Amino acid sequence: MPIAQKIEGFLSASSWIRKMFEEGEKLRQIHGPDKVYDFTLGNPNVEPPEAFHRKLGQIAGNPLPGMHRYMNNAGYLETRQAVADVLAEETGKPVTPGHIVMTCGAGGGLNVVLKTLLNPGEEVIVPTPYFVEYRFYVDNHGGTIKEVPTAAGFQLDPQAIAAAVGPNTRAVIINSPNNPTGVVYPAQTLEALGRVLEEKEKELGKTIYLISDEPYAKIFYDGTAPPKVFKHIKHSLVVTSHSKDLALPGERIGYIAINPDIEDAALIFDGLVFCNRTLGFVNAPALIQRLVAPLQRESVNIEEYREKRDLLYNHLSGLGFDVIKPKGAFYLFPRCPIEDDVEFVRRAQKYNLLLVPGSGFGKPGYFRLSYCIDTQIIRNSLPAFTELAREFNL
Ligand code: PLP
Repeated sequence: MPIAQKIEGFLSASSWIRKMFEEGEKLRQIHGPDKVYDFTLGNPNVEPPEAFHRKLGQIAGNPLPGMHRYMNNAGYLETRQAVADVLAEETGKPVTPGHIVMTCGAGGGLNVVLKTLLNPGEEVIVPTPYFVEYRFYVDNHGGTIKEVPTAAGFQLDPQAIAAAVGPNTRAVIINSPNNPTGVVYPAQTLEALGRVLEEKEKELGKTIYLISDEPYAKIFYDGTAPPKVFKHIKHSLVVTSHSKDLALPGERIGYIAINPDIEDAALIFDGLVFCNRTLGFVNAPALIQRLVAPLQRESVNIEEYREKRDLLYNHLSGLGFDVIKPKGAFYLFPRCPIEDDVEFVRRAQKYNLLLVPGSGFGKPGYFRLSYCIDTQIIRNSLPAFTELAREFNL
């Protein structure tokens, strides 16, 4: 066998988005790109804010000596200070550069956190549905995923999470605003989660870490900013990136923030820096660290995403699809009108609609649409959804 058996198994288990992408390429060749409605990828179609390009021009025009060299593996002090200042203001906690590690995106950051925290065989609880890569990231570091269903409306169920915690539990990963549902967890839910985790920690005599994956934190609608986990959960780490809020996914830039309330924050920081280095990332890209330092309060134009959300949500719910109106991120997660989500997604292809089955997110019976695509493509796709709904008698 040319590759490891485990990876061969993972390849087939994780291939949904890739399969749909390949299908899309085929359909685009046959029908032309404007006739194929590809809702599969979470790749922002908007451009980074103007301020990013201005800063890029300034740096390119005035190269500094040594700006491309290795640095402290945690990242530039200037960048970590900029991140810490904003987090301290938002959370009311004494966040310093000693709580911040710059990373290669949120994906890199999650791997660094999991490598730092997990002992072999320990469990990480994830509410379903979830970003499928968590499964592989946890496996990378010898852990296993324990799935816990969410409550009505895909909201977190703190009691169900508490019931799933056992002596082998090391961490819980949450993601709000959520991929794939677009749901945002309110402050009361985070507070309730903080309470039950603390009770479990006392009962079991060990620390359970809350890892909050937040790449969509600045992409929220209708004025409800997602609450800050540091305020509600003591043993928490935030992992985030500028892939979505500054539309820079190809640049691989993000950070980990350690809650200053954690007693062992300094040791965790040392562990994170070591793992950033030894996972081979070494440090987050130097040039982009300098670029994002002054942009910590910037984001892409959220109104563009809101318009796309409204267009698609109004049309689908009007057709009779059972779908929650997202409060953040750029995904919709409707229920399929038939049980078999894979069959549903296959039949949608007849109308040149490319969707991802909920099975790919640990939630069969649903499908995900990523609406970070051209608004005109969304408009063009609406009659295709109408025909799809008709086929299923909605
Ligand atoms: N977490 C979630 C929930 C995501 O949706 C993504 C990317 O789509 C990531 C993490 C990884 O993002 P990054 O590009 O910052 O590695």
